[in-house]
Amino acid sequence: MRVTVLGYQSPYPGPGGATPGYLIETERVKILLDCGSGVLAQLGKHLPIFELDAMLLSHYHHDHVADVGVMQYGLMVHQLFGQRPADKPLPIYAPGLPVVNAQTLVYREATTFTPITEETSVTIGDVAITFLRTDHGDGDPCYAMRLEANGRVLVYGADSGPGTAWKGFASQADLFICEGTYLDYNLPAKPNGHLSVRQAAELAQSLSCRSLLVTHLFYGYDESQVIAEANAFVAGPVYAARIGLQIDL
Ligand SMILES: [Zn+2]
Ligand SMILES: [Zn+2]
Repeated sequence: MRVTVLGYQSPYPGPGGATPGYLIETERVKILLDCGSGVLAQLGKHLPIFELDAMLLSHYHHDHVADVGVMQYGLMVHQLFGQRPADKPLPIYAPGLPVVNAQTLVYREATTFTPITEETSVTIGDVAITFLRTDHGDGDPCYAMRLEANGRVLVYGADSGPGTAWKGFASQADLFICEGTYLDYNLPAKPNGHLSVRQAAELAQSLSCRSLLVTHLFYGYDESQVIAEANAFVAGPVYAARIGLQIDL
């Protein structure tokens, strides 16, 4: 499994940047996890968008879905141009709530929608995927994703505060993509559905993950400071997200 960071910034993209989006490639399939602002422009550096096999969305906050509409337009035009069969819509897997958001995921022949819950398991090619609801937001669900392929495990933590029950789901993952929204100097006094870089590192260490990718960062954060504040993770390599970063599992 190869992970490519297409976007990692939040809440908005810096100049030339992008909010969350991760391309997952195996021998058989190409999957996009989240589709934030600027992700399509980055995706096009790696493959034509019409070659995607599936898209998974963790939740409907704008930084994770801002490019979904233009993805649908793009796929529609590629179908018109004959580059993607009209009878091959892109399947989108995403929460069923809020309904008003979920309804936007079906678009002409371009995209279809399948709801996800903690009971859902999805197989896309050689990738098996399960979901965990995270501690995030104001009542609408956000799902972390566990992807298994060829004996390797990748966990994408989506957005999460400190209340998520990670044990079992993320334990001993070969790679944990975990949000670290705050550096110490601007960590809010009360948890607000996000983790700091330091908390992400402590979490990954307690779960015995084998490597850690800290993401969901403000674009102006200094990469060396992110790595420094992630020093609680000593079980394996730690990466600070940047656009174009690739990790092979
Ligand atoms: Zn969010
Ligand atoms: Zn977010």
